[in-house]
Amino acid sequence: MQRMTKQRSAIIELLRTQNNFLSAQDIFELLRKEGHNIGLATVYRNLQAMAQVKSVDVVRQEDSDVQLFRYCADDNHHHHLVCRNCGKTVDIQGEAVEQWAAKIAHEHNFTGVTHSLELYGQCSACDDKPAKREFFN
Ligand SMILES: [Zn+2]
Ligand SMILES: [Zn+2]
Ligand SMILES: [Zn+2]
Repeated sequence: MQRMTKQRSAIIELLRTQNNFLSAQDIFELLRKEGHNIGLATVYRNLQAMAQVKSVDVVRQEDSDVQLFRYCADDNHHHHLVCRNCGKTVDIQGEAVEQWAAKIAHEHNFTGVTHSLELYGQCSACDDKPAKREFFN
């Protein structure tokens, strides 16, 4: 049990220093680089457990099934604006979306309705840079 706790706090420590969403693989590699003796399966298991109790936010990588994790200071329900190029993330509120979701649920007599919605784009830093693909021409 003690070992589990230590590993989890190492993951949390790392996530607190990162502003971007990271995959389990990224987190595993960063922890190894810092000298932690931890396996990918353990990282993955801990992230899943933390996502379940909402200690970390989870999004899916655009156009793939890969899960990305981020420690969010905001415990309340919120959404994310994610740069698809560098992973820079902004926590955002979506009042209009919340109202729309509540209205739809009410109209159809659904209770316990949840949603997840993330916006993907290019941050200003990445927009200034030449598009990545130019390097391949
Ligand atoms: Zn967040
Ligand atoms: Zn960016
Ligand atoms: Zn929402």
